[in-house]
Amino acid sequence: AQKRYSGLRELPATTSCGTRIELFMNAGLMADLPSMESSGAEGVGLFRTELQFLTRTRVPRRSELAALYSRVMDAAHGRPVIFRTLDIGSDKVLPYMKPQDEPNPAMGWRAIRVGLDKRGVLRMQLQALIRASVGRPLHVMFPFIAEPSEFHAARKVLMEELAREQRLGHGMPEDIRVGTMLETPALAFAPLSFFRSCDFVSIGGNDLKQFFFAADRENELVRRRYDSLSEPFLSLLDQIIARCDEAGVKLSFCGEDAGRPVEALTFAALGIRRLSMRPASIGPVKHLLRQISLEDLRAAIGRTRAEGGSVRRTVTEFLAQL
Ligand code: PEP
Ligand code: MG
Repeated sequence: AQKRYSGLRELPATTSCGTRIELFMNAGLMADLPSMESSGAEGVGLFRTELQFLTRTRVPRRSELAALYSRVMDAAHGRPVIFRTLDIGSDKVLPYMKPQDEPNPAMGWRAIRVGLDKRGVLRMQLQALIRASVGRPLHVMFPFIAEPSEFHAARKVLMEELAREQRLGHGMPEDIRVGTMLETPALAFAPLSFFRSCDFVSIGGNDLKQFFFAADRENELVRRRYDSLSEPFLSLLDQIIARCDEAGVKLSFCGEDAGRPVEALTFAALGIRRLSMRPASIGPVKHLLRQISLEDLRAAIGRTRAEGGSVRRTVTEFLAQL
């Protein structure tokens, strides 16, 4: 599939009506980075940092992490890499972490909740990120933020670590951008001041959808039951897009739906200008984006939305006419 779209690699994802959509890739390993060249990704919109923690028998050392993060940034050749801090929960049990007995681990003590309660690991990871990005930009994203106070607290930890590095006389990143994942419905309704305080926002559609529809993303009985293109979910996306537009903050979508063509095009039509996906999805999504008028698609979607239900058929039919 990559070969089929290789002619598009160097071309931008610009629609026929002239709207530029940025296509980024998701990654989690050094071995993912060569896909940046082959897919034509403009950056890494989500670097999941869990794997290095899950595959060890002890907490990785700061120096090991710094070396890895640095190699990842080297391999991106100046294109942005957004590192998400550890999203570990009691479902992803670290061998060296005391297991928690939680009835609903996906809604339990995970991600930034652990990071803020046990700051040692968060601090160490942030130190590694700072050291890896001396003299170049650092993009940090915090996972599973449900309220603004959690984002502010996490960013404060980052600022403290930057100050500490400076006191120690170490080099500094050239530029620091701090963003949030938007994975909990509550955060979509945070005040404008919160969105203004973020350098970027990325919708984690996998979690956002599971909590919006109350349908476990791991449970085969329910995980495909609800449609991301149904009116309630699109209304939620509208809310987030409007908040981010008003706050002037960069918004992206980095859940699995971003790499599904029908979903990706719908999100673009709603107003999302950056999508981050599996590298193999970039070619097919770009191929379609370059052929469509987002204005026409938005009009078609609007007519269906007025009646409620899902726009899936409308978008699929729109694409079939190309
Ligand atoms: C998401 O929730 O959509 C997301 C990108 O994070 P993860 O899949 O790692 O939970
Ligand atoms: Mg998530």
